[in-house]
Amino acid sequence: MTMKNIAEVLESVKTVGIGGHIRPDGDCVGSCMALYLYIRTYFPDIDVNVYLDHPKPIFGHIECIDEIKTEADDRVFDLFITCDVSARDRLALAGELFEKAKKTVCIDHHVSNQGFADINHVQGDISSCCEVLYGILDPEKVTLPIATAIYTGMVHDTGVFQYSSTSPETMRIAGELMKTGIPFSRIIDESFYQKTYIQNQVMGRVLAESILLQNGTCIIGYLRRRDMDFYGVEGSDLDGIVSQLRLTKGVEVAMFIYETETQTFKVSLRSNGKVDVSKVAVFFGGGGHTRAAGCDLHGSMYDVINNITAEIERQLAEEEDA
Ligand code: 5GP
Ligand code: MN
Repeated sequence: MTMKNIAEVLESVKTVGIGGHIRPDGDCVGSCMALYLYIRTYFPDIDVNVYLDHPKPIFGHIECIDEIKTEADDRVFDLFITCDVSARDRLALAGELFEKAKKTVCIDHHVSNQGFADINHVQGDISSCCEVLYGILDPEKVTLPIATAIYTGMVHDTGVFQYSSTSPETMRIAGELMKTGIPFSRIIDESFYQKTYIQNQVMGRVLAESILLQNGTCIIGYLRRRDMDFYGVEGSDLDGIVSQLRLTKGVEVAMFIYETETQTFKVSLRSNGKVDVSKVAVFFGGGGHTRAAGCDLHGSMYDVINNITAEIERQLAEEEDA
């Protein structure tokens, strides 16, 4: 079931909770905050609260970002809305708030989303959750702060309007958002491209040590815990590495893995189109999109690399047979 306008689910609702996925990215923070600002502005009688894991400082330009609750409480909301969450178990700190809420809504754009709320407004072919959300807001009510949040999410999930998921409609909406006067150059530079010196150093190291497999169609980058400790970086410092790996000439699939805890790895997958990496990720209990997906895996680094590459190889072979 989908909605025409968010106002449909806000009728006679007094309290609303909003939540996103763990390690919230630009689309997640952008969509949660845009919805938060919209409800706060146009439904002043509703008590609205947004719950997210600590958002990165690069999202500091989004208005009211410091109003995000980074710890759950024991409230029972009339309505709980998830943004950019592909599955129930990705809900991070808002999991219990979602369970306890009287009614739930899921707004999302992941193809792997099976629908886990009472109302599931899921459009798997749309480039970002922010774009899906824009579709259920009154366009004339999208103010500069709301537009800034939405634009940030669109920029992040389309790789600055470059991924194949970018559609004419994406560009039309981006144009509408620009009309509100958003600082679009700054948003792109400071929240998307800019890296710290250390982040660039780490990316350089991962690229230098990357391995090419399967006749150069698959590239793998990796970072062990001890190397992350050496540089003093966390998972959130590693954004952009897998995208850079994907840009290697001849590559169909790029994979980047880093150790979150001893023998536990976060896997990021990117595809140039031949392989549906969401299938690979789902096979290992993760999820995502055709061209960008991820999962968590346990074992030695070599096991993780072997297991994932075997599955990629299987999919590449299937593709060639088809
Ligand atoms: P990233 O590689 O940037 O962490 O994630 C790429 C895409 O895959 C995102 O859309 C994200 O939602 C999805 N994704 C990444 N890791 C996981 C995971 O462990 N489980 C699920 N269900 N989706 C994931
Ligand atoms: Mn997204």
